Formats: sequence, C-alpha cells, structure tokens
Amino acid sequence: MDVLVLGGGYAGLLVTRKLERRLPESATLTLVDDTGTHLVQHELHRAIRKPDYVDDIDVPLGEILDRASIREARVTDVDRATHTVSLADGDELDYDYCVVALGAETAFYDIPGLEEHATPLKRLEHAATIRREFEAVIDQFGHEDPTTAAETAGTVVVGGAGLSGVQVAGELATMARERGVADDIEIVLLEQLDTVAPGFPERFQDATHERLVAQGVDVRPGTTVTAADEAQISTEGGSIEYDQFVWTGGIRGNEAMGGDRPAVRGDLRLDARTFALGDAVRIVDADGEPVPASASAAVRASETVARNLVAAATADGGFVDVAQWRWESPGWLISIGDDAVAQVGPTVLTGAPANALKSAVGITYLAEHGSFRRALDVLRKEADDTGVSPSYSNSSEAALADRSLKKWGRRRRRSRPYSSSSSRISSSLPTSSSVDSVDSKERSPSSPPSTSTPSACSSVSWFWFSCSDSSYDPNPIVGGTWWSAKTLWTCRSREGGSRGVPGPHGPTGITAGRTRDGYEQPRRAGPDGDPRIAG
Ligand SMILES: Cc1cc2nc3c(=O)[nH]c(=O)nc-3n(C[C@H](O)[C@H](O)[C@H](O)COP(=O)(O)OP(=O)(O)OC[C@H]3O[C@@H](n4cnc5c(N)ncnc54)[C@H](O)[C@@H]3O)c2cc1C
Repeated sequence: MDVLVLGGGYAGLLVTRKLERRLPESATLTLVDDTGTHLVQHELHRAIRKPDYVDDIDVPLGEILDRASIREARVTDVDRATHTVSLADGDELDYDYCVVALGAETAFYDIPGLEEHATPLKRLEHAATIRREFEAVIDQFGHEDPTTAAETAGTVVVGGAGLSGVQVAGELATMARERGVADDIEIVLLEQLDTVAPGFPERFQDATHERLVAQGVDVRPGTTVTAADEAQISTEGGSIEYDQFVWTGGIRGNEAMGGDRPAVRGDLRLDARTFALGDAVRIVDADGEPVPASASAAVRASETVARNLVAAATADGGFVDVAQWRWESPGWLISIGDDAVAQVGPTVLTGAPANALKSAVGITYLAEHGSFRRALDVLRKEADDTGVSPSYSNSSEAALADRSLKKWGRRRRRSRPYSSSSSRISSSLPTSSSVDSVDSKERSPSSPPSTSTPSACSSVSWFWFSCSDSSYDPNPIVGGTWWSAKTLWTCRSREGGSRGVPGPHGPTGITAGRTRDGYEQPRRAGPDGDPRIAG
C-alpha cells in the first residue's frame, strides 16, 4: 500500500508523524515537500528583524521523521481519478491513499500592479527580501541624530491586517525603533475591513489595535487597495506614496490544486482515498462552522485525518467508521514586535504575560516537533529579548530546567514508540471513545473571567494544554504549567503586581472579561469568501 503526504508544513508533518506509528509495516509512507524542511511559519515574521531565528524555525524533515521517506520535489498536479501525483521533475507517483497538505499561496486578487510591486510573506526568502528592502529604506531615510531628521519620512506600507500583516507591521516598527530611526520611517498598516485582525473577538481586536498604535504603527482600517505602481498605492480613499510595500492581504489555493481551495467537511476527505487539511482547503467542520486558516487548526485536524486514513487503509474495502472533526478555538496569540497579545478563553493578555505565553507555546511546539536544541535556543533568545523567561536564581537551576526539558522529550519518545507488531498498532489506534474524551477535554471552558493570578495560571495551563498536540499525554501540562506559572510570577513581580503596583497594562497585564462572543469566534467572509484571519 502506497501512502503519500503532500506538504511538510504543520498539517503534513503532524499527519505523517501519526501515520509513522499507526500504519502497518507493509505500507510505504512518503512525504513530498518542495523544500525538504518544516517551516514554523507562524514565527516567520520574526526572521525579518532577527535573521538568526531562521535556523531555529526551519527544521530539516529528516531530523523529525523516522520511518517516512522524504521526497524533495514540487507537486504540480493531483489527479484524483487516476490516483496519481505529478512532480515538477517529470516523475509521477501512484497512491492508494493521499493527504493534501500543500498550504496556500498569497492572493493578489488581480489588483493591477499588486503582485509586481508588493512582497508577500509565505517563505523564508520573502522574509529576507522584506528585511533587505527595509534596510534600504533605513539607509535612505534614517538619521541617527534626530535634530537632522529629514523633512520627508520614508513610508513602508503593509497591506492586510490579518495574523501575518499585524505581526509584520509590529516587527518593522520595532526594528525601526531599535535602529533609532522610528521618527524617520512611517509604518502604515492598511486593512479593507473595518478592524485589524478581522474575524477575531472584539476585545482581541481592540488590544491588537492599541498595541500596534503604541508601537508607532499608523493603522488604517476601512482602506481598500485598488492598484499599485512603482511609487504609489491607489486606494478608494486616495493614493499613498510608498518606499516599501508588503502584501499580506489574503490567501488562495496552491497552484498544484489549480489555485483553488476545495471545500471539505468534518471527515476531511476529498474522496474515499484523498484526504485534505490545513490552508490547502476550506474546512467546514462537523458543526457546519467554517474553520479559520491557521497553524492552530492545521495541527488539530491532523488527528482526524490520520485516524480516518488508517481506518480506511485497514478496512480493506469493508465498512469504515469515519470520524468527524470539530474545530474548537483554543485562543489566539500574536506578537507585535517585542510585545504580544493573547486571547485565552475569555481573557485578553498583553505585555509580559502574553509574551511569556507566546514563548511557551512556540517552545513547546519546537520541542515536540522540531528539536530540543532549537527549543532551548529560542528560549534563550526570547529570554534575552523580552526579559520575561524564567529568572533562574543560579546556573544549576537553569541546568536543571534544561535537563527536565530533555527528560520530558525522552519520556515522550519512549511512551510512543513505533512498533511493527500488529497488536501494538491496533492498541495505538484511538478508539472513537478516546477521540471523544479528547474532544470533551478540549471543549471544557476555562475558568471564569478574573484578574486574580491563580485564575490566570489556570487559564495559562488550559491554554498550554490546548496548544500542545499532546492532549493524550499529561506530561507537557505539568511542565507547561510549572514553567508558565513561574514565568507569570516573575512578570508579576517585575511589574510590581505582587506589591499591588499596576504595571503598564494593569497589575499583571491581564485584561479580564468575556469577549463579545464568549468563547466563539465571529467569522466574517474575506474577499475570497473564506474567513480571513490568516494572511
Ligand atoms: C507571518 C505569518 C504569521 C502567522 N501567524 C500565525 C499565528 O500566530 N497563529 C496561527 O495559528 N497561524 C499563523 N499563521 C498562519 C499559519 O502559518 C498557516 O495557517 C499554516 O502554516 C498552515 O499550515 P499548512 O500545513 O496547511 O501549510 P504550510 O505551513 O504553508 O505548509 C505547506 C507545506 O507544503 C509545501 N509546499 C507548498 N507547495 C508545494 C508544492 N507544490 N509541492 C510540494 N510542496 C509544497 C511548503 O513548502 C510547506 O512545507 C501565520 C502565517 C504567516 C505567514
């Protein structure tokens, strides 16, 4: 039996890792990816300001996978009628089962001049280009001595204020400030809809807008780009002269899928032999709700795809009990330069606690799916940048933390070995009741709105739990809660919270209260009809 997974992003990697453990030994498992690496895309904007992050967020697939063969090639077509995948090098691969996880591409909506003059952000080379272009703007307009500042400032425009646009604008504004040229360069963030982070809860949008403005970004919602040339961006409200233009205004389907993002339902199947998840498709879940294109959704959908594929493969043409996937939002977390905004259940965090969460979630992901060396590298860099990582009282405590993290990883690997014995395989297959119990755990609401630290800590552990792909393994919860609690406590002390002195965002930087929509995310159609919350 030949099983192909197309794409080594969040969706493809997570499905492949599950299939490595669960497919019968006789099955051939191949992951096809055009880069041969797993890019931790939700941290891609960081590489604009900090190019040394590239090594931490771009992980060779060979370092992560044990059993699957890796084919570094570009997929040009998926023929579902003949069960054949065509590659750019001319080869064709036949499959019995295929998982389409090719992600999405940037949508330019046929806006005249847009694709020609704006730089998108989807790949590492885009981050490098944006950095290079920004350096050129700094060289042209930056003045180290503010008294000699030029009368005309440079203008950098970011089009589209979804997850990627907001984070890019934050990085550029922070980079300008770090270089001492914030007064010489204007960062303008355009959004067609009437708010930043369209589709997110209102409190999250408000906090994001506020933090962007605090970083010096000129936020202009309700601005529709209609055309661009080498000097000007035309909008419905007039034109803007620019020196650099970054476009993060939406996504479209992968070329290999004809530029389309086909719709799939909760079973995550395009047909009986072809499964699909992640940004490559528009998912409408088991409740009929559209699922946002996000790393978070791609990770969570992987369990259902792996389960359904293994069930189909082992049914041998017989009855297949197909599981339906239901999307539950675990909350949202973005960085705005060195600041961050987190929505954890009903609570919105900014400043140091949100930064601590961002670090914790990123490091957990890398430790689970990248490598411990990378996770520790990022931990150290984040500690240097934000000053909110655990403040170990001495080097032996820091070494102990390093050892605990490594030990946890070894335990995880030991507890989930790949085995060729059929009894092990069948016992590792989740039963429908185990899937249900995971679902019910993820569905349980977090603690009620409160500003108290114990409540914040329980929200943190809930968030950690939800963001980890290890809902069946309690170890990360213990480790994560310990780390997060310690970090929160450190932040609280630094901001004077423990002495009752409010920090910049209140005693702990926590804004409590139920969002307008409670735990639900309002969904609004973007220009291509998709919920437009990922750029
Ligand atoms: C700057 C930025 C910040 C973001 N921040 C967040 C965030 O904070 N939270 C969040 O949840 N989401 C965030 N997102 C969105 C998130 O990164 C995507 O939703 C997520 O990457 C989708 O995962 P995926 O596996 O479907 O696709 P991808 O991660 O895009 O993976 C697709 C894979 O397929 C490969 N591939 C593509 N085409 C081909 C081909 N033709 N042949 C072979 N291989 C191919 C690619 O190289 C890649 O490895 C952000 C996105 C960006 C750009």
